[in-house]
Amino acid sequence: MADVTLTQVQALADQLTREERTSLIQHLQAGLTAAPSTPASSGAAAGAAAESRAAEPAREPAAAPTAPRFTTVTGTVNANTNIRDGHRYNSKNPSDNDTKVTTLKPGQQALVTGYTIYPPAGQYERRYRLEWDNKVVWGTAETFDVDSLYGRRGLEFLPFSLENPTAELLRMIGVSLDSGVSLDRAKEAAALLWDLQLSRITSVEMFEEALDIIQKLEKYGVLLGVEADGKWSIGNLRTVFDAIENTAKGTGALFDPLFGFRDDTLAFRVMYGPLMITRSGKDNVNPFGDAMWYARNTAGYEIVFGNRAFFDGQQTTKSNPGLFYTSADLIAHEVAHIINWRYPREIKPGSALTQKPADYYETKIAFASYQVEGQTVKFGAYNEGYAMAARSSNGKHETITDAIACLSLNRFTDDLKGRARKAQMTDYMRQVITYRVREHGGVDHMVGDIAKKRSTDPKLPAKMQAILETMTTAPRHLDDELHDLGTKLV
Ligand SMILES: [Zn+2]
Repeated sequence: MADVTLTQVQALADQLTREERTSLIQHLQAGLTAAPSTPASSGAAAGAAAESRAAEPAREPAAAPTAPRFTTVTGTVNANTNIRDGHRYNSKNPSDNDTKVTTLKPGQQALVTGYTIYPPAGQYERRYRLEWDNKVVWGTAETFDVDSLYGRRGLEFLPFSLENPTAELLRMIGVSLDSGVSLDRAKEAAALLWDLQLSRITSVEMFEEALDIIQKLEKYGVLLGVEADGKWSIGNLRTVFDAIENTAKGTGALFDPLFGFRDDTLAFRVMYGPLMITRSGKDNVNPFGDAMWYARNTAGYEIVFGNRAFFDGQQTTKSNPGLFYTSADLIAHEVAHIINWRYPREIKPGSALTQKPADYYETKIAFASYQVEGQTVKFGAYNEGYAMAARSSNGKHETITDAIACLSLNRFTDDLKGRARKAQMTDYMRQVITYRVREHGGVDHMVGDIAKKRSTDPKLPAKMQAILETMTTAPRHLDDELHDLGTKLV
């Protein structure tokens, strides 16, 4: 569960008036775990407020209810968009929404009985508590005319506490307890929404699926993050999981004959973990120039995907217009880059692998003759035999990367050359895996390597810290897993 940091509080405080700041500090002093209280009768609007709360879904008992004195303010909806009551909102198919949904129409009057500040990563959004027709709905300044209310004295501040959000505040951010989800589960969802900026997670089923994917990814040694207002949708999560799971299967199949057993999760973790996958809100994630990059891989440890990395169907690259790639293929390509970005830095003189992957590809693979099915196959082109191309060029770094991704995903051409490439790449990756298991410098080596790569991204060590820690604990220390694999090597 994320903690509210001093920086976040500072950022909040910067936006507040003096009165609000005082109120916030009082709330913080009272402890972030204090639940916003249930209002007692206090004035003209209290009756309606109490009634509306009775219609609310199950709430946890308020710990120590104090009686807030809501200053009820009449506001007017001024936007084209209606404020909708109901957490399900499917803009593509409005008929899919809850039938219970009621709408505050433009121009309609409502009472404003409080506000909170919901701080998703880097954005601090003020939301207002609106009441009408025995309904409690939370709206933003975009949909509600709150200019006249901004900083108004006495308007109740309901702190959004991640540690202990109430049912009402959970509902505000789209986590409804209506379908029988437990409060603990809902709080977990709130923490995930905070940490990962999950968007369009509009049902308990979707939340459960997102949680399941995130937990499985962690077992692979993968942690998700966000930058530049990036948001993970359930579709993005599914695509990333699809690519990781298939890469794990392909890697697990290579482990089987080498170690005498198959464990796809272990295989992925050993070869590609620790890995940070970050969703950027940008189209172009190229930090150096203006060339359009859908994705980038920093030093073989962090992969950043921008908006364009996620798409339906297939696309082609400029360098290989005849070959297609899907969104999941692109993700698998970026994962495959780990082999040729991270491992060359581990190659020691005299070890089994004497060349960097890209150089090995150029000298020993690209145009090498290969024996398969009793025939000698001669390759006439550098990138012959591959059925998928997510490579940004046909240079050696990019081609070896696609070759590794094609091996993981079994995407070779359906002919003798494709089968020869597959056999050739299988031989190569077995060498890489053997090298990895024999020569691995340990998690400490990775920590040192990441520290050195600070020049590429100053934030890399901080970003990698959490997943590096996971690699030493769950399910076992990576060094122990590698040691055991070393003893099983046939
Ligand atoms: Zn690439």
